[in-house]
Amino acid sequence: MEGGMINGAAGDTPASGAMEPWITLLVLQPSPFCNINCDYCYLPNRTSTRRMTMDVLQNAIEKTFASDLVRGELTLIWHAGEPLAVPMKWYEEAFGIIARAVPPQAKIRHSVQSNGTLINQAWCDFIRKHNISIGLSIDGPAFLHDAHRKTRRGEGTHAAGLRGLRLLRENNLPFHVIAVITREALGHAEEIYDFFESEGVRHLGFNIEEVEADHATSSLGREHDQRVLEFYETIFRLQKERRTIVIREFSAAAQKIRSGVSLREFDFPWFNEQARPFGIVSVDCEGNFSTYSPELLGMTLKPYGEFAFGNVARDHFSDALETPKFREVLGDIQAGIRRCAETCSYYGYCGGGAPANKYYENGSFASSQTMYCRYSVQMPLDIVLSDIEKDLAIS
Ligand code: SF4
Repeated sequence: MEGGMINGAAGDTPASGAMEPWITLLVLQPSPFCNINCDYCYLPNRTSTRRMTMDVLQNAIEKTFASDLVRGELTLIWHAGEPLAVPMKWYEEAFGIIARAVPPQAKIRHSVQSNGTLINQAWCDFIRKHNISIGLSIDGPAFLHDAHRKTRRGEGTHAAGLRGLRLLRENNLPFHVIAVITREALGHAEEIYDFFESEGVRHLGFNIEEVEADHATSSLGREHDQRVLEFYETIFRLQKERRTIVIREFSAAAQKIRSGVSLREFDFPWFNEQARPFGIVSVDCEGNFSTYSPELLGMTLKPYGEFAFGNVARDHFSDALETPKFREVLGDIQAGIRRCAETCSYYGYCGGGAPANKYYENGSFASSQTMYCRYSVQMPLDIVLSDIEKDLAIS
């Protein structure tokens, strides 16, 4: 699984600009195992077949709703390795437990990000039955996808992923796609757009290859800024001309601009769920939990040690708030946000970015600018803004 799946200027909508914490996403990792072996994957334990027990799951749900941090709809994201590599029987039991453990008035929505290779008719039926929001990870045409997304034997996974995508379409199940953009993809923006358009993809996001955890280097860097910009500009032009695919990065930017919501200097970025304590809660298959960027859970990070703030078997989320480790992480992340507010003209839109990218690119949460900022926040916003300005100049 590629990192940054949940990255981005958040689109959650709090009832007010209140600063107290609340959970937007509960990320459940049923198993670290993945059935394929992408070369840009950041997960160190993706060969492990450990699986969450039903006791851990029950504790995770109970602790979430006991925390008093849930307001409005809660999205449960099944995440980590390949979620559909866990048998359907496991999910049938798990969904039953969740349905019984969730308070009657609570609204939850399930979401899965999958490599698509294991999707069959039975999964389509399950997805429909439980109204699961599904995303696929496909990088575009076969020559780009198969360069990185391979089986453990080194074979490409494009054909299998595409089979899954087509089956979702045959079943009229809505889905989105996330494509990882590596250096090789940069000159192929139009082919990528054409490919997804011809496959009936209507919602597409780009994760520009990030540096995270086990994936310590990216094929991209400052020297590629101009080419990344050209890539985005081509995609923007195509989506504007054809109106066939909604591109996550541009629609998020346009939505944010239209909302008129921005931050005053040093305002806390309540809309940025990765920077907001307990905006996202992640629980691994052993019941360890963390908050902030989900990809940090279980990683060993200097100077904090293992990135987990407790275990759902014994701890409430509120217990974590007073631990020295949490206070240290919180202080460093807040220092990074403050630095963003002081130095970055995009702060009002971005709200201080993603702690995982800051840590892995800059070595510290208490930092600001990253490659992720340039490629996933600043460039898309600049393109959308300059388009709006052009339109205004014409009218
Ligand atoms: S430096 Fe990056 S993370 Fe910080 S506000 Fe600017 S774009 Fe966001």
